[in-house]
Amino acid sequence: MVGAGVMGRGVTIALRQAGFSVILVDRTEEILEGVQRTIAQDARLYTLLSPKTAITGDEVLAGTRLHTDLDAVAKADLVIENATERFTVKRPIYQRLGELVAPGTPIGVNTSAIPITRLGGLTGRPEDVIGTHFMNPVPLKPTVEVIRGRRTSEETIGRMREFVDALGKKSVLVNDSPGFVTNRVMMLTVNEAVFLLHEGVGTAEDIDRLFVECFGHTMGPLETADLIGLDTVLLSIEVLHDEFKDSKYRPCPLLTSMVDAGLHGRKSGRGFFDYEGRGK
Ligand code: NAD
Repeated sequence: MVGAGVMGRGVTIALRQAGFSVILVDRTEEILEGVQRTIAQDARLYTLLSPKTAITGDEVLAGTRLHTDLDAVAKADLVIENATERFTVKRPIYQRLGELVAPGTPIGVNTSAIPITRLGGLTGRPEDVIGTHFMNPVPLKPTVEVIRGRRTSEETIGRMREFVDALGKKSVLVNDSPGFVTNRVMMLTVNEAVFLLHEGVGTAEDIDRLFVECFGHTMGPLETADLIGLDTVLLSIEVLHDEFKDSKYRPCPLLTSMVDAGLHGRKSGRGFFDYEGRGK
């Protein structure tokens, strides 16, 4: 597991619930110390919400080796990459993974929008690289969007779908395109909801209520953005804007300003809504 942020921690817990051993890599010891605390809190929350797959923070950590060196994944049977949604961050990771892991080892890309084909090309073995787009919060979401890069092999697709199956989840296979199916629509919806707030068409509460009460969504687009992380939403919409060169993906200035202000949603305690004092 490369990257121990919101997604890296979520996927780690899901893997431990299914009995897999995990090697979890992030940049610094300080981040990894924080990860141990957050994993314990997250495991408590997911156990409360889904008692059938109960797991304690200690059980997650007992089967998880934490490292700051990417080379620690050299002998892994399968890699999931969840580092920050920036091509410049992911590029050296894929270049190194191509040299590091044994040929035939599936490399799952858990990106929100970056094309799988481009990341696969960096490894020198694009047949092993496959989009594996988990939904957040991972332990509670039943389905994974699996993305076939232009050169992903049928064998890699089969192995990744078997792995998703072993996690007790279903997979939907789609072809590569920036944002795939889910985020090409979702990021546009979230960004447009931020424009509505920016223009004063409705309050954050009322915008979200309309999606929940009229459309039956579990949560509105602004709360969804808070859950994803506003920094990750901004990076994802920027990827879509760069890739399609279409102004419909231009980020709302309010989104940019909130990210500049450190209001990153649940993970920072505040975004469109306030999470201070009610857990993250
Ligand atoms: P995050 O900002 O919470 O975490 C990213 C982590 O990557 C950080 O801990 C950072 O230190 C680490 N990192 C950066 N460079 C690294 C390196 N060289 N080696 C190892 N770790 C490194 O972001 P996130 O929300 O967890 O998103 C991670 C990836 O998953 C992104 O590509 C994102 O688009 C994707 N994703 C996010 C969501 C979501 O809802 N947040 C859902 C699906 C996919």
